[in-house]
Amino acid sequence: MKETVAPSGAELRARAEIDLAALRANVRTLRERAPGAALMAVVKADAYGHGAAACARAAVEAGATWLGTATPQEALALRAPESGVPDDVRVMCWLWTPGGPWREAIEAGVDVSLSGTWALDEVIRAARLAGRPARVQLKADTGLGRGGCQPADWAGLVAGALRAEAEGLLRITGLWSHFACADEPGHPSIAAQLSRFREMVAYAEGQGVDPEVRHIANSPATLTLPESHFDLVRPGIALYGVSPSPEIGTSADFGLRPVMTLSASLALVKHVPGGHGVSYGHHYVTPGATTLGLVPLGYADGIPRHASAAGPVLVEGKWRTVAGRVAMDQFVVDLGGDDPGPGAEAVLFGPGDRGEPTAEDWAQAAGTIAYEIVTRIGHRVPRVHVNEGNEGNEGNDPEEGSGR
Ligand SMILES: *Cc1c(COP(=O)(O)O)cnc(C)c1O
Repeated sequence: MKETVAPSGAELRARAEIDLAALRANVRTLRERAPGAALMAVVKADAYGHGAAACARAAVEAGATWLGTATPQEALALRAPESGVPDDVRVMCWLWTPGGPWREAIEAGVDVSLSGTWALDEVIRAARLAGRPARVQLKADTGLGRGGCQPADWAGLVAGALRAEAEGLLRITGLWSHFACADEPGHPSIAAQLSRFREMVAYAEGQGVDPEVRHIANSPATLTLPESHFDLVRPGIALYGVSPSPEIGTSADFGLRPVMTLSASLALVKHVPGGHGVSYGHHYVTPGATTLGLVPLGYADGIPRHASAAGPVLVEGKWRTVAGRVAMDQFVVDLGGDDPGPGAEAVLFGPGDRGEPTAEDWAQAAGTIAYEIVTRIGHRVPRVHVNEGNEGNEGNDPEEGSGR
């Protein structure tokens, strides 16, 4: 059932296997959570390190009708024919800076987000040059305090956008916002942001805006907050099978399966005496005669240096811990006298059902969040996409995604 791409030389060092069947199952699970809403698969940052084009195609196969990115360059790459993303899928991006590729985005039919009048001015100028209307979504700052238009400036942005719409320079396709604390159920900011969002939407609609979509829900809101689903949900991390926060539940609690498995081949296994310092700074000293395994991954590959002396690795069925410091290209594990030999598989993280650690385990070891663990895996690590292409009836199989 699992089609594995034959490993090339580079993949023998290390590989991030991306299980697209798991991703498709996660998309279906999320759609069941938000049955009345369309789903935008957030594939920014190379799909959180999983490979944007392959993940976008898989998400679309499983029913996503929108794709979301941060930068316009990411959005334009999904619109390029090489991506294999069907033309009828909507693509939206939200992180613009002055002088951005507005005209290219308009010509590619990308929905662009506006948080302020500088962006409205630039998109109007580009729409005139392009000779076709821009698709714009107005972003409200309902309390996140990051991107988005402040309530006090909303009337001006809405009025300016409506004037341009009346001139045929743009179409206001969406009204949207983003949560600050959706991963902390019951946090008072959630209700406050929702009511502010409803007010700002009602104001814009009262002025004559007729959006295709209104949306605010990220992964935690998609999973836990049905009243936030509106017309569209925008999950990112949950697509990749990682829980947005261990406090609200594990991925298994939500029926999600981690998509990435990061593994490496041991580059060396050697016997060393007790009292031997290990790696830069000698922060680990072997407690007795033992064996050391050399894992050929380091911080250049996205392995956090903060996980020195803490990150877990599965070798031959046993959890081992990073011994001493993570270096740029490699780190060491104490194999406790076992000698699996060079080339033995070291699994850093995966779904967990072979006994391996998860990205969440690494997040805890490094004092960060699992989002960062998967997203930061470097380009030197090849992504090996498996289970590409819908398998016949998988959409009808209730067991799909619950583990194999
Ligand atoms: C990253 C992002 C998302 C997805 O967030 P997750 O927590 O990964 O689901 C949704 N909307 C915006 C604006 C984002 O930047």
